[in-house]
Amino acid sequence: MKCKYDVVIIGAGVAGLHTALSLDDDTDVLVLAKDYAWECNTFYAQGGVAVAVDEEDIPYHIKDTLNAGAGLCDEGAVDILCHEGPVVIKEFIEHGFKFDKDRDGNLLYTKEAAHSRNRILHAGGDATGRHIHQFLMDKLKFPILYNTQVTDLLIENGVCYGVRVYHNNEIFNIYAKKVVIASGGVGSLYEYHTNARTISADMQGICLMRNIELRDMEMMQFHPTVFVQSSAVRKQLLSESLRGEGAKVIDEDGKRFLFDYDDRGELSPRNIVSQAIFDYQLKTNKKVFLDLSNFEEGFFMKRFPSIYFNMTNMGYNVPFDLVPISPAFHYAMGGIKSDFFGRVPSVSSLYTVGESANTRVHGANRLASNSLLEGLVFSKRVALDIKLTLKEKKKKVEFDEVEPSLINKIDKNLKNELRDLMWNCAGIKREEKKLKKALNRVEDMLKLSIGKLLRLRLLSSREIIKSALNRKESLGAHYIEKGEKI
Ligand SMILES: Cc1cc2nc3c(=O)[nH]c(=O)nc-3n(C[C@H](O)[C@H](O)[C@H](O)COP(=O)(O)OP(=O)(O)OC[C@H]3O[C@@H](n4cnc5c(N)ncnc54)[C@H](O)[C@@H]3O)c2cc1C
Repeated sequence: MKCKYDVVIIGAGVAGLHTALSLDDDTDVLVLAKDYAWECNTFYAQGGVAVAVDEEDIPYHIKDTLNAGAGLCDEGAVDILCHEGPVVIKEFIEHGFKFDKDRDGNLLYTKEAAHSRNRILHAGGDATGRHIHQFLMDKLKFPILYNTQVTDLLIENGVCYGVRVYHNNEIFNIYAKKVVIASGGVGSLYEYHTNARTISADMQGICLMRNIELRDMEMMQFHPTVFVQSSAVRKQLLSESLRGEGAKVIDEDGKRFLFDYDDRGELSPRNIVSQAIFDYQLKTNKKVFLDLSNFEEGFFMKRFPSIYFNMTNMGYNVPFDLVPISPAFHYAMGGIKSDFFGRVPSVSSLYTVGESANTRVHGANRLASNSLLEGLVFSKRVALDIKLTLKEKKKKVEFDEVEPSLINKIDKNLKNELRDLMWNCAGIKREEKKLKKALNRVEDMLKLSIGKLLRLRLLSSREIIKSALNRKESLGAHYIEKGEKI
């Protein structure tokens, strides 16, 4: 098998595939996916892509993004997202992508929480991610290697030379002039989450092992309306657009209790809704439901076909039945620190983009539907920088192809314990006592004879816990229980 490329892209979600699409055709590129191509968060994205509707809307998109980000956004990154967003979306449509339109051929924009106007484009109703992913896979002009897990980065003296991978029961190195980490977030660290099963913070863990800085790792977003009562690892998300289009959150007595927490009720930012539901359930022990009865059945089937299909399969007669909901882990704002061209500051020839990256574009809380846009906008910038620097000379370096054991016998139970620990101690509400308990347990687990893959999860978890302990005030998605000290 060929093991030398110009560019290796780790990940086949929107960020990785759009980086590939934006590179020149004669570049020698290999895309890696840990599983099947569709096992990524992009494929499961429902709501849509946020983008300024016109020139006048750009400052409002910026303002909404900054407000949601609670003061932790980098204004430069937000400026790039909201200004370059409409350009990239226009190009995407010119490439042939079809967003949903009305009968007259006008793009349909919907509203989601904390957006000051309707600016969410969608495709296939609530199947935006699937449509984007399919489209990008169809356009992919480079080879893709499936079932290939990156287990290490080949770095010497601050330069990245490639990756070590596990594929077909073999460990080997793939060398590249440029390496792009587009491996997504950290969902599988938590007991309840909405993420694809491939999203388990391996690359974040590798970065920590290699002393590459992660930033804002306490900033983890929990989605408020998730159906968690199934046995599937990935829990069914009930898109933000449902509330944007009139669905209500009620308790078992029919009370719309969100207004006790925020005047905006169902349209409050998702961290407020998540924290309110979590708090209300703890205090009252009452069940919480999503009431979809405002929707007419025919419209619901057409507008939310995936939710309709999935919930019907699980025995719910939507939109008539009340759907029990709970918050669940959803999105990582924190990630591998990078600049606005995706460059990782301490290692040359290494980039990161999409959910794995942290440019501070989302600050302390991501505005709904800004992440698909982030993947599209910043991947184009990564590709631009690669094009400009690909010809630079690089030394030839060989690395050994040895890896310690990836999985050990005791790992499975510990992995489940870790998920439970992260959900209960580093989840929606943080308290010093619980965070310290989690930290001690993670440190103990790290001393055991465990496989490398679990070690990577533990390192990423430890970073989330430590960052949460370091932040003394509630901010955005980082919520410290009132009266608690950190
Ligand atoms: C259910 C759900 C609904 C969402 N809805 C929306 C929405 O409506 N709008 C919006 O803007 N955002 C939404 N999001 C968030 C958005 O989908 C993600 O943030 C975005 O798709 C991330 O794209 P990505 O390319 O960075 O990563 P992903 O799409 O997650 O892709 C990661 C890729 O990395 C690969 N990978 C991971 N680790 C390794 C490894 N060690 N070796 C090799 N490959 C690896 C995986 O196999 C995968 O191919 C949603 C997320 C979820 C989970």
